[in-house]
Amino acid sequence: MKLQVLVLAGDGIGGEVTREAVRVLRHVAGKWNHTLTLTEGLLGAVAIHKTGTPLPDETARLAEAADATLMGAVGLPEFDNAPPDKRPERGLLGLRQKLGVYANLRPVRAYPSLLGSSPLKNDRVEGTDMIIVRELTGGIYYGTPRGISGSGAEERAVNTMTYSRPEIERVTRMAFHLAGGRRKKVTSIDKSNVLENSQLWRRVVIETAREFPAIELEHMLVDNCAMQLVLNPRRFDVVLTENMFGDILSDEGAVLAGSIGMLPSASIGDRKPSGAWVGLYEPVHGSAPDIAGQNKANPLGAVGSVAAMLEYSFGLKDEAAAVNSAIERVLQSGKVTADLQPRGKPATTDEVGEAICAAIG
Ligand code: NAD
Repeated sequence: MKLQVLVLAGDGIGGEVTREAVRVLRHVAGKWNHTLTLTEGLLGAVAIHKTGTPLPDETARLAEAADATLMGAVGLPEFDNAPPDKRPERGLLGLRQKLGVYANLRPVRAYPSLLGSSPLKNDRVEGTDMIIVRELTGGIYYGTPRGISGSGAEERAVNTMTYSRPEIERVTRMAFHLAGGRRKKVTSIDKSNVLENSQLWRRVVIETAREFPAIELEHMLVDNCAMQLVLNPRRFDVVLTENMFGDILSDEGAVLAGSIGMLPSASIGDRKPSGAWVGLYEPVHGSAPDIAGQNKANPLGAVGSVAAMLEYSFGLKDEAAAVNSAIERVLQSGKVTADLQPRGKPATTDEVGEAICAAIG
């Protein structure tokens, strides 16, 4: 198969973890005889430094042309007080919108060998295996009117949480499709006791769910969900939620896995004429300026993102399973970076990447 992948390493540890993800992607392509074409582009602070904008037109063009995009992370402290359109994170939001990737998929698994790294008691976390499906291009992060007006006692700020029926339907279908290949249960999260927006969300989810009679649907208020994620995370299979609730809940979910460095994500849009899903794949973590350039970042979130790319954008399930099982075996071997608190000397970022390739064979 021909795999055309755009690589946007970004800032901070983005370059380090992406290098290992690409190493694994090359290894998989070689082993299964796929023709891999890699293109590199600029996004985030590195793009601002070189071109003056966080999302250069050339990067947007390359992303639209590629079958899939692999991203590292964006953001540097020097831009913390920059105007919104000159911030690295604006590049990422712009890219998501440009590609129309409306569903963010975040698998959260408790790996047996990492139970000790979770801040929760082992018996609570053990067996956790869920995927959070977050709507990514609508809701309060994009709604208008928005802004701050007035001054003194008259100063006020407004944001708008808005969803249309089609926006809810398409992400709901994505969640139900995923549940069909898993334990066949969707938990839809809302705040329908207070927000009209959530009332529409719940109604449209119920109507769309009728297309999937084999899948169980339950509803949960977002405040209860925040509690259940730490009380009984095993109860969840597919968690479906709007943009802001998903942003918050998925970081809470991240803690269950032991380290944020472990978590992959996939942002998916519609299918291309080839049948592949449009996809943007990136680890959940940020650019971690505190450890950047030290070869000690955990690359497994980035490597897991490669597995997600192989599965969702290319339909290569065996290759994806091989990468995921290599992650499990490397974790069991104890060859892990410092964030996972190994007993012996921590492994470096590139040692973990090499170990994954060796485990794939
Ligand atoms: P962060 O995820 O970069 O770091 C949080 C903590 O986790 C740090 O202590 C860091 O060292 C650690 N950490 C993160 N990834 C790790 C890894 N792979 N291995 C080991 N340890 C890891 O979050 P932050 O510090 O809040 O943000 C730093 C910058 O990243 C900011 O500019 C922020 O805007 C940006 N950011 C970008 C993204 C993205 O590109 N998707 C996401 C979150 C934050």
